[in-house]
Amino acid sequence: MGISLAPPERLATLNGRLPTITTLCSHSSLQIFHGARKEGFRTIGLAAGPTPRFYDAFPLARPDQFVTVPKIVELPSTAPHLRSEGAIIVPHGSFVEYMGAEAFTAWDVPVYGNRKVIGWEADREKSREWLVSAGATMPRRYGDASEIDGPVIVKYYGAKGGKGFFLAKSREALDDFHPTGPYVIQEYVLGTRYYMHFFYSPISDRGYRVGHGSLELLGMDRRDEANIDELYKLGSQEELLKAGIRPTFVVTGNVPVVLRESLLPRAFEVAAKIVERSIELFGGMIGPFCLEGIMTEELEFKVFEISTRIVAGTNLFISGSPYSDLVEPNLSTGRRIAQEIKRAQELGRLSEIVS
Ligand code: AMP
Repeated sequence: MGISLAPPERLATLNGRLPTITTLCSHSSLQIFHGARKEGFRTIGLAAGPTPRFYDAFPLARPDQFVTVPKIVELPSTAPHLRSEGAIIVPHGSFVEYMGAEAFTAWDVPVYGNRKVIGWEADREKSREWLVSAGATMPRRYGDASEIDGPVIVKYYGAKGGKGFFLAKSREALDDFHPTGPYVIQEYVLGTRYYMHFFYSPISDRGYRVGHGSLELLGMDRRDEANIDELYKLGSQEELLKAGIRPTFVVTGNVPVVLRESLLPRAFEVAAKIVERSIELFGGMIGPFCLEGIMTEELEFKVFEISTRIVAGTNLFISGSPYSDLVEPNLSTGRRIAQEIKRAQELGRLSEIVS
Protein backbone atom coordinates (compact mmCIF):
# COMPACT_ATOMS: atom_id res chain seq x y z
CA MET A 1 0.00 0.00 0.00
CA GLY A 2 1.17 3.50 -0.79
CA ILE A 3 0.74 6.79 1.01
CA SER A 4 -2.68 8.33 1.69
CA LEU A 5 -2.70 11.87 0.22
CA ALA A 6 -6.21 13.12 0.93
CA PRO A 7 -8.03 13.75 4.20
CA PRO A 8 -10.86 11.15 4.28
CA GLU A 9 -13.58 13.84 4.43
CA ARG A 10 -12.47 15.24 1.05
CA LEU A 11 -13.11 11.92 -0.64
CA ALA A 12 -16.49 11.44 1.03
CA THR A 13 -18.23 13.07 -1.97
CA LEU A 14 -16.94 10.24 -4.18
CA ASN A 15 -18.18 7.34 -2.09
CA GLY A 16 -19.95 4.73 -4.15
CA ARG A 17 -20.29 6.77 -7.34
CA LEU A 18 -18.29 7.15 -10.51
CA PRO A 19 -16.42 10.48 -10.26
CA THR A 20 -16.91 13.25 -12.81
CA ILE A 21 -13.61 14.11 -14.46
CA THR A 22 -13.23 17.87 -14.44
CA THR A 23 -10.66 20.23 -15.87
CA LEU A 24 -10.18 23.78 -17.10
CA CYS A 25 -11.06 24.28 -20.78
CA SER A 26 -7.55 24.85 -22.11
CA HIS A 27 -4.10 23.25 -22.57
CA SER A 28 -4.80 19.47 -22.81
CA SER A 29 -8.51 19.49 -21.96
CA LEU A 30 -9.62 17.93 -25.27
CA GLN A 31 -7.40 14.94 -24.58
CA ILE A 32 -8.48 14.70 -20.92
CA PHE A 33 -12.21 14.79 -21.80
CA HIS A 34 -11.74 12.40 -24.73
CA GLY A 35 -9.81 9.91 -22.57
CA ALA A 36 -12.37 10.17 -19.76
CA ARG A 37 -15.28 9.47 -22.14
CA LYS A 38 -13.50 6.43 -23.53
CA GLU A 39 -13.32 5.06 -20.00
CA GLY A 40 -17.03 5.78 -19.38
CA PHE A 41 -16.78 8.90 -17.17
CA ARG A 42 -18.96 11.99 -17.18
CA THR A 43 -16.99 15.21 -17.62
CA ILE A 44 -17.17 18.87 -16.59
CA GLY A 45 -15.38 21.72 -18.36
CA LEU A 46 -14.57 24.78 -16.26
CA ALA A 47 -14.23 28.12 -18.02
CA ALA A 48 -13.95 31.82 -17.27
CA GLY A 49 -16.27 34.01 -19.36
CA PRO A 50 -18.73 32.67 -21.92
CA THR A 51 -19.11 28.93 -22.61
CA PRO A 52 -16.27 28.04 -25.00
CA ARG A 53 -17.59 27.30 -28.49
CA PHE A 54 -14.70 25.42 -30.02
CA TYR A 55 -15.66 22.13 -28.35
CA ASP A 56 -18.66 21.99 -30.73
CA ALA A 57 -16.10 21.21 -33.42
CA PHE A 58 -14.80 18.20 -31.47
CA PRO A 59 -17.82 16.10 -30.47
CA LEU A 60 -15.75 13.23 -29.04
CA ALA A 61 -13.99 15.61 -26.65
CA ARG A 62 -16.86 17.91 -25.63
CA PRO A 63 -17.50 17.92 -21.87
CA ASP A 64 -20.97 16.83 -20.70
CA GLN A 65 -21.37 19.98 -18.64
CA PHE A 66 -19.78 23.42 -18.55
CA VAL A 67 -19.36 25.38 -15.32
CA THR A 68 -18.43 28.99 -15.97
CA VAL A 69 -17.43 31.89 -13.75
CA PRO A 70 -17.00 35.54 -14.82
CA LYS A 71 -13.28 35.57 -13.93
CA ILE A 72 -10.80 32.80 -13.32
CA VAL A 73 -10.06 34.03 -9.79
CA GLU A 74 -13.67 33.11 -8.95
CA LEU A 75 -13.12 29.41 -9.66
CA PRO A 76 -12.77 28.50 -5.95
CA SER A 77 -16.47 29.45 -5.51
CA THR A 78 -17.49 26.48 -7.68
CA ALA A 79 -16.32 24.03 -5.00
CA PRO A 80 -19.79 23.22 -3.51
CA HIS A 81 -21.24 22.49 -6.98
CA LEU A 82 -18.21 20.42 -7.99
CA ARG A 83 -18.39 18.41 -4.78
CA SER A 84 -22.10 17.74 -5.36
CA GLU A 85 -21.23 16.44 -8.84
CA GLY A 86 -18.55 14.09 -7.47
CA ALA A 87 -15.83 15.94 -9.37
CA ILE A 88 -12.17 15.01 -9.46
CA ILE A 89 -10.09 17.89 -10.81
CA VAL A 90 -7.36 16.96 -13.29
CA PRO A 91 -4.72 19.68 -13.13
CA HIS A 92 -2.73 20.79 -16.16
CA GLY A 93 -0.06 23.45 -16.65
CA SER A 94 -2.37 26.31 -17.57
CA PHE A 95 -4.84 25.44 -14.81
CA VAL A 96 -2.33 25.96 -12.01
CA GLU A 97 -0.74 28.95 -13.73
CA TYR A 98 -4.01 30.83 -14.43
CA MET A 99 -5.63 30.07 -11.10
CA GLY A 100 -2.48 30.62 -9.05
CA ALA A 101 -0.58 27.94 -7.13
CA GLU A 102 -1.82 29.14 -3.76
CA ALA A 103 -5.54 29.20 -4.67
CA PHE A 104 -5.23 25.86 -6.43
CA THR A 105 -3.49 24.22 -3.47
CA ALA A 106 -6.12 25.52 -1.03
CA TRP A 107 -9.13 24.51 -3.20
CA ASP A 108 -11.40 22.17 -1.23
CA VAL A 109 -12.21 19.71 -4.02
CA PRO A 110 -10.62 16.32 -4.80
CA VAL A 111 -7.60 16.85 -7.07
CA TYR A 112 -5.94 14.07 -9.05
CA GLY A 113 -2.28 13.79 -7.98
CA ASN A 114 -0.43 15.09 -4.95
CA ARG A 115 -0.96 18.82 -4.58
CA LYS A 116 2.18 19.08 -2.45
CA VAL A 117 4.21 18.72 -5.65
CA ILE A 118 3.18 22.23 -6.77
CA GLY A 119 5.45 23.95 -4.25
CA TRP A 120 8.40 21.79 -5.32
CA GLU A 121 7.91 22.45 -9.00
CA ALA A 122 7.21 26.19 -8.90
CA ASP A 123 10.34 27.12 -6.95
CA ARG A 124 13.53 26.79 -9.08
CA GLU A 125 15.67 26.28 -5.96
CA LYS A 126 13.48 23.53 -4.56
CA SER A 127 13.06 21.70 -7.85
CA ARG A 128 16.85 21.78 -8.31
CA GLU A 129 17.38 20.41 -4.80
CA TRP A 130 14.91 17.59 -5.57
CA LEU A 131 16.32 16.65 -9.00
CA VAL A 132 20.00 16.91 -8.08
CA SER A 133 19.53 14.93 -4.87
CA ALA A 134 17.82 12.26 -7.02
CA GLY A 135 21.00 12.00 -9.08
CA ALA A 136 19.79 13.84 -12.22
CA THR A 137 22.38 15.88 -14.10
CA MET A 138 21.34 19.51 -14.45
CA PRO A 139 22.99 22.39 -16.32
CA ARG A 140 25.79 23.88 -14.24
CA ARG A 141 24.80 26.96 -12.25
CA TYR A 142 27.21 29.86 -11.79
CA GLY A 143 27.14 31.65 -8.45
CA ASP A 144 29.82 34.08 -9.58
CA ALA A 145 30.10 35.43 -13.14
CA SER A 146 33.92 35.21 -12.97
CA GLU A 147 33.66 31.38 -13.11
CA ILE A 148 31.94 31.43 -16.53
CA ASP A 149 33.93 29.53 -19.14
CA GLY A 150 31.41 29.02 -21.96
CA PRO A 151 27.99 30.06 -23.24
CA VAL A 152 25.36 30.81 -20.60
CA ILE A 153 21.62 31.39 -20.33
CA VAL A 154 20.38 33.87 -17.75
CA LYS A 155 16.90 33.09 -16.42
CA TYR A 156 14.65 35.30 -14.36
CA TYR A 157 12.79 33.65 -11.50
CA GLY A 158 9.31 32.62 -12.49
CA ALA A 159 9.79 33.82 -16.10
CA LYS A 160 7.03 32.33 -18.23
CA GLY A 161 7.90 31.11 -21.71
CA GLY A 162 11.51 32.13 -21.30
CA LYS A 163 10.50 35.81 -21.43
CA GLY A 164 13.52 38.04 -20.90
CA PHE A 165 16.03 35.15 -20.88
CA PHE A 166 19.45 36.38 -21.94
CA LEU A 167 21.95 34.32 -23.91
CA ALA A 168 25.66 35.13 -23.72
CA LYS A 169 28.35 33.34 -25.68
CA SER A 170 31.00 34.22 -23.11
CA ARG A 171 31.65 35.98 -19.80
CA GLU A 172 32.44 39.22 -21.69
CA ALA A 173 29.12 39.11 -23.55
CA LEU A 174 27.38 39.16 -20.18
CA ASP A 175 28.36 42.84 -19.81
CA ASP A 176 25.36 43.62 -22.00
CA PHE A 177 23.02 42.06 -19.46
CA HIS A 178 21.28 44.60 -17.24
CA PRO A 179 19.07 42.67 -14.81
CA THR A 180 15.59 43.86 -13.95
CA GLY A 181 14.91 41.28 -11.22
CA PRO A 182 16.29 38.18 -9.47
CA TYR A 183 17.92 35.72 -11.89
CA VAL A 184 20.15 32.65 -12.18
CA ILE A 185 23.05 32.10 -14.58
CA GLN A 186 23.13 28.61 -16.10
CA GLU A 187 25.42 26.79 -18.47
CA TYR A 188 23.86 26.99 -21.96
CA VAL A 189 23.73 23.31 -22.91
CA LEU A 190 24.44 22.52 -26.54
CA GLY A 191 22.51 19.52 -27.78
CA THR A 192 19.02 18.37 -28.69
CA ARG A 193 15.96 18.95 -26.54
CA TYR A 194 13.65 16.11 -25.52
CA TYR A 195 10.48 16.36 -23.46
CA MET A 196 9.74 12.89 -22.08
CA HIS A 197 6.19 12.11 -20.96
CA PHE A 198 6.29 9.66 -18.06
CA PHE A 199 3.48 8.31 -15.89
CA TYR A 200 3.96 7.03 -12.35
CA SER A 201 1.24 4.81 -10.92
CA PRO A 202 1.56 3.98 -7.22
CA ILE A 203 -1.21 1.36 -7.55
CA SER A 204 0.15 -0.65 -10.46
CA ASP A 205 1.74 -4.01 -9.72
CA ARG A 206 3.20 -4.76 -13.15
CA GLY A 207 5.67 -3.26 -15.63
CA TYR A 208 8.79 -1.26 -14.70
CA ARG A 209 8.56 -1.30 -10.90
CA VAL A 210 9.37 1.94 -9.08
CA GLY A 211 8.47 3.18 -5.59
CA HIS A 212 5.16 1.56 -4.57
CA GLY A 213 4.07 0.97 -8.17
CA SER A 214 5.39 1.34 -11.70
CA LEU A 215 6.64 3.80 -14.29
CA GLU A 216 5.45 4.10 -17.90
CA LEU A 217 6.71 6.16 -20.82
CA LEU A 218 3.74 7.39 -22.85
CA GLY A 219 5.31 9.75 -25.37
CA MET A 220 7.97 12.28 -26.26
CA ASP A 221 7.95 15.62 -28.00
CA ARG A 222 9.99 18.70 -28.71
CA ARG A 223 8.54 22.17 -28.34
CA ASP A 224 8.55 24.75 -31.07
CA GLU A 225 9.77 27.94 -29.47
CA ALA A 226 9.35 31.44 -30.93
CA ASN A 227 11.46 33.26 -31.80
CA ILE A 228 14.61 31.36 -30.83
CA ASP A 229 13.93 28.43 -33.18
CA GLU A 230 14.08 30.74 -36.17
CA LEU A 231 17.16 32.69 -35.09
CA TYR A 232 19.48 30.71 -37.28
CA LYS A 233 17.67 31.88 -40.39
CA LEU A 234 18.30 35.50 -39.56
CA GLY A 235 21.87 35.28 -38.37
CA SER A 236 23.67 35.53 -35.09
CA GLN A 237 22.26 36.93 -31.93
CA GLU A 238 24.47 40.04 -32.17
CA GLU A 239 22.92 40.91 -35.53
CA LEU A 240 19.47 40.47 -34.06
CA LEU A 241 20.28 42.59 -31.05
CA LYS A 242 21.42 45.35 -33.41
CA ALA A 243 17.97 45.08 -34.96
CA GLY A 244 16.43 45.32 -31.49
CA ILE A 245 15.21 41.69 -31.45
CA ARG A 246 15.76 39.65 -28.28
CA PRO A 247 15.52 35.88 -28.39
CA THR A 248 12.51 34.41 -26.60
CA PHE A 249 11.36 30.85 -25.97
CA VAL A 250 7.57 31.22 -26.07
CA VAL A 251 6.10 27.80 -26.84
CA THR A 252 3.96 27.85 -29.99
CA GLY A 253 3.47 24.13 -30.67
CA ASN A 254 4.92 20.65 -30.41
CA VAL A 255 6.50 18.05 -32.67
CA PRO A 256 6.75 14.29 -31.99
CA VAL A 257 10.18 12.76 -31.45
CA VAL A 258 11.65 9.44 -30.42
CA LEU A 259 14.89 8.88 -28.57
CA ARG A 260 17.68 6.59 -29.71
CA GLU A 261 16.61 3.28 -28.24
CA SER A 262 19.96 2.75 -26.53
CA LEU A 263 19.29 5.89 -24.45
CA LEU A 264 15.96 4.69 -23.05
CA PRO A 265 17.41 2.66 -20.14
CA ARG A 266 19.17 5.75 -18.79
CA ALA A 267 16.03 7.87 -19.25
CA PHE A 268 14.05 5.36 -17.17
CA GLU A 269 16.76 5.24 -14.49
CA VAL A 270 16.77 9.02 -14.09
CA ALA A 271 12.95 9.23 -14.04
CA ALA A 272 12.70 6.38 -11.52
CA LYS A 273 15.14 8.05 -9.13
CA ILE A 274 13.22 11.33 -9.37
CA VAL A 275 9.99 9.51 -8.46
CA GLU A 276 11.65 7.68 -5.58
CA ARG A 277 13.12 10.92 -4.23
CA SER A 278 9.69 12.61 -4.49
CA ILE A 279 8.25 9.89 -2.26
CA GLU A 280 10.91 10.63 0.38
CA LEU A 281 10.54 14.40 0.11
CA PHE A 282 6.77 14.95 -0.06
CA GLY A 283 4.88 11.69 -0.36
CA GLY A 284 5.35 11.25 -4.11
CA MET A 285 4.69 12.76 -7.52
CA ILE A 286 1.64 10.89 -8.82
CA GLY A 287 0.54 10.36 -12.43
CA PRO A 288 1.92 12.18 -15.47
CA PHE A 289 5.12 14.21 -15.40
CA CYS A 290 7.54 15.45 -18.01
CA LEU A 291 11.33 15.48 -17.87
CA GLU A 292 12.61 18.34 -19.99
CA GLY A 293 16.23 18.31 -20.97
CA ILE A 294 18.99 18.37 -23.50
CA MET A 295 20.90 15.39 -24.83
CA THR A 296 24.50 16.42 -25.44
CA GLU A 297 26.82 14.96 -28.06
CA GLU A 298 28.40 12.94 -25.25
CA LEU A 299 24.90 11.41 -24.86
CA GLU A 300 24.44 12.90 -21.43
CA PHE A 301 20.89 14.04 -20.62
CA LYS A 302 20.89 17.34 -18.73
CA VAL A 303 17.51 18.10 -17.17
CA PHE A 304 16.67 21.81 -17.15
CA GLU A 305 13.10 21.45 -15.86
CA ILE A 306 10.41 19.07 -14.63
CA SER A 307 6.67 19.52 -15.19
CA THR A 308 4.77 17.55 -12.60
CA ARG A 309 1.47 17.09 -14.43
CA ILE A 310 0.14 16.46 -17.92
CA VAL A 311 2.04 18.58 -20.48
CA ALA A 312 0.58 19.92 -23.73
CA GLY A 313 3.09 17.87 -25.76
CA THR A 314 0.96 14.80 -24.96
CA ASN A 315 -1.77 16.30 -27.22
CA LEU A 316 0.18 14.81 -30.12
CA PHE A 317 -0.72 11.32 -28.96
CA ILE A 318 -4.52 11.15 -28.61
CA SER A 319 -4.44 7.81 -30.44
CA GLY A 320 -1.21 6.64 -28.86
CA SER A 321 2.49 7.19 -29.40
CA PRO A 322 5.37 4.93 -30.46
CA TYR A 323 5.86 4.30 -26.73
CA SER A 324 2.30 4.05 -25.39
CA ASP A 325 1.42 1.69 -28.27
CA LEU A 326 3.70 -0.79 -26.55
CA VAL A 327 1.77 -0.41 -23.28
CA GLU A 328 -1.75 -0.52 -24.77
CA PRO A 329 -3.20 0.53 -28.15
CA ASN A 330 -4.91 3.96 -28.37
CA LEU A 331 -3.61 5.08 -24.99
CA SER A 332 -3.30 8.83 -24.52
CA THR A 333 -2.09 10.33 -21.26
CA GLY A 334 -5.62 11.69 -20.73
CA ARG A 335 -7.06 8.20 -21.08
CA ARG A 336 -4.38 6.78 -18.80
CA ILE A 337 -5.43 9.25 -16.08
CA ALA A 338 -9.06 8.12 -16.42
CA GLN A 339 -8.03 4.45 -16.22
CA GLU A 340 -6.02 5.17 -13.09
CA ILE A 341 -8.96 6.87 -11.36
CA LYS A 342 -11.25 3.97 -12.30
CA ARG A 343 -8.83 1.32 -11.09
CA ALA A 344 -8.03 3.14 -7.83
CA GLN A 345 -11.73 3.41 -7.06
CA GLU A 346 -12.30 -0.28 -7.79
CA LEU A 347 -9.43 -1.13 -5.44
CA GLY A 348 -10.63 1.30 -2.75
CA ARG A 349 -7.31 3.17 -3.08
CA LEU A 350 -8.44 6.59 -4.37
CA SER A 351 -6.77 8.33 -1.42
CA GLU A 352 -3.36 7.28 -2.81
CA ILE A 353 -3.81 9.13 -6.09
CA VAL A 354 -6.19 11.98 -5.15
CA SER A 355 -5.38 14.79 -2.71
P1 AMP B 1 12.55 26.87 -18.97
O1 AMP B 1 11.81 28.12 -18.60
O2 AMP B 1 13.59 26.47 -17.94
O3 AMP B 1 11.62 25.74 -19.33
O4 AMP B 1 13.34 27.17 -20.30
C1 AMP B 1 12.69 27.61 -21.49
C2 AMP B 1 13.50 27.17 -22.69
O5 AMP B 1 14.86 27.67 -22.61
C3 AMP B 1 13.67 25.66 -22.83
O6 AMP B 1 12.57 25.05 -23.43
C4 AMP B 1 14.94 25.55 -23.64
O7 AMP B 1 14.71 25.73 -25.03
C5 AMP B 1 15.76 26.72 -23.16
N1 AMP B 1 16.71 26.36 -22.09
C6 AMP B 1 16.45 26.36 -20.76
N2 AMP B 1 17.54 26.04 -20.05
C7 AMP B 1 18.53 25.82 -20.95
C8 AMP B 1 19.93 25.47 -20.84
N3 AMP B 1 20.51 25.33 -19.65
N4 AMP B 1 20.64 25.33 -21.97
C9 AMP B 1 20.06 25.52 -23.19
N5 AMP B 1 18.78 25.88 -23.35
C10 AMP B 1 18.01 26.03 -22.26
